[in-house]
Amino acid sequence: MAIKENAVCSDCRVPLKYYDSVLRIIRTKGRKTRQIKIQRFRCSHCGCIHRNLPDDVFPYKQYEAEIIRGVLEGFITPETIGYEDYPCEMTMIRWKSQKTQLLL
Ligand SMILES: [Zn+2]
Repeated sequence: MAIKENAVCSDCRVPLKYYDSVLRIIRTKGRKTRQIKIQRFRCSHCGCIHRNLPDDVFPYKQYEAEIIRGVLEGFITPETIGYEDYPCEMTMIRWKSQKTQLLL
């Protein structure tokens, strides 16, 4: 996993330094899970930790980006069949209310 180009602190705009790696469990369709490694970077100015997320994973979300996109775009609803592990309706509502942040 490569460092994002020009990774800078979103507050200070200074380049980030490698800090460590953490494992995260991602829940996918069909009740499977997979582990991904996420690199964390530290801002040398304010000291806050930033995660370098792969493109298909949203921060702090346990569902695949595909499902989140489906919900946000409206083709996955609580009535959709085929996503055994689809999010509950409250989760979908929360995603929609956070849509702007999720897509940043
Ligand atoms: Zn900073």
